[in-house]
Amino acid sequence: MPTYAARWILPIVAPPISDGVITIESDRIAYAGPMPEGEGLRPDDVIDLGPVAILPGLVNAHTHLELSWMGGLVPPAPRMTDWVRRLLQVRLEAGRDDPGAIASAIDAAQRCGTAVVADVSNSLASHELLAQSRLQGVVFHELVGFAGDGASDVVAAARDRVDRLGDAPNIRVYLAPHAPYSVSVALFDAIHREMERSDGPCSIHVAESAEEIDLLSRGAGAWRDLLEELGAWNGTWAVPGCSPVDYLARLGFLTSNLLAVHGVHLNEVDLRQLARARATLVTCPRSNAWTGAGIPPVERFYSSGARVAVGTDSLASSPDLNIFAELAELRRIAPTIRAGTLLESATLAGAEALGTADRFGSLEPGKSAHVLAVVVPETVEDVEEYLIGGIEPAWIRWLDGLD
Ligand SMILES: [Zn+2]
Repeated sequence: MPTYAARWILPIVAPPISDGVITIESDRIAYAGPMPEGEGLRPDDVIDLGPVAILPGLVNAHTHLELSWMGGLVPPAPRMTDWVRRLLQVRLEAGRDDPGAIASAIDAAQRCGTAVVADVSNSLASHELLAQSRLQGVVFHELVGFAGDGASDVVAAARDRVDRLGDAPNIRVYLAPHAPYSVSVALFDAIHREMERSDGPCSIHVAESAEEIDLLSRGAGAWRDLLEELGAWNGTWAVPGCSPVDYLARLGFLTSNLLAVHGVHLNEVDLRQLARARATLVTCPRSNAWTGAGIPPVERFYSSGARVAVGTDSLASSPDLNIFAELAELRRIAPTIRAGTLLESATLAGAEALGTADRFGSLEPGKSAHVLAVVVPETVEDVEEYLIGGIEPAWIRWLDGLD
């Protein structure tokens, strides 16, 4: 039953503790807090880790591992539809997912301190590699289909693919719709029926670009142009004439199981609605800048009362899968939000949204000992602020990987 002393312990559910200890028993946390007084621990029983901060493994609440081979191939664009047009072109020219790139991305994510991941996948190519990794979490098997018929068959075929996957105690799989502009009402309904059976989390890209708001409110604009260009426009689609959140509410998706990804163009009313439904907003600010979606209104996300989690999105729109780097960007664009709140978003909020908070997201007795030890200079006084200032993989160790 090793006990480690560290300059900082960050339980997340309580303020940072200076000169604290963490005790591990059978791969679980037995205790995390101040050094117990009186009898109990003898100095010889304690392994002193020195100037490090112990904190929970991070949660990447939105990525697409199967797009990892696209790293650096789709340049930033001024408008999201332009970026998507380029991405589709690159995908068409190469025409394959690369398992080697997925495996490297999983390794890189773990070196960056990720313990839990929400991976969005069309091909399910990531599932086997995730199953073999130390990552925990969810694969959202994402369905796209705005124009086509046979939504029930599409969903039945997807469920078959999921049923044929090998056993993976660390990874659960759920169906998920891609976005309001790429999924027909019939397909939304068929996924919704499936969702009610599973009662698990569900993820959808929502209000990512201003063009999406245009499409839903008046049935026109750059998204419609692109869908027509791709032969994917659905002439029978009734323009909802409302906001994306109202649209999801009508379709039955506005629940506490929802991970609403991006939300760059949500207004105050939308945000309050998400908060009331206890849905989770997943913000990926570096991707939003890259794709031309815009800068997410992160301070308004928090003031709405919604639960906010953090994702990197894929390597097609992000330089790396480092959630610490995403936190540094959040600090840059949301200077008024407390560092501890941002750290909670990158740990506990994501773990709760993905149904993994029984083992991840905070340092509490009974939770997994797969936690981080990040080197912190002795001169640091505000450890939370330091940890959201940009942490490199070289400064990160896993406590259960220390010898
Ligand atoms: Zn995405």
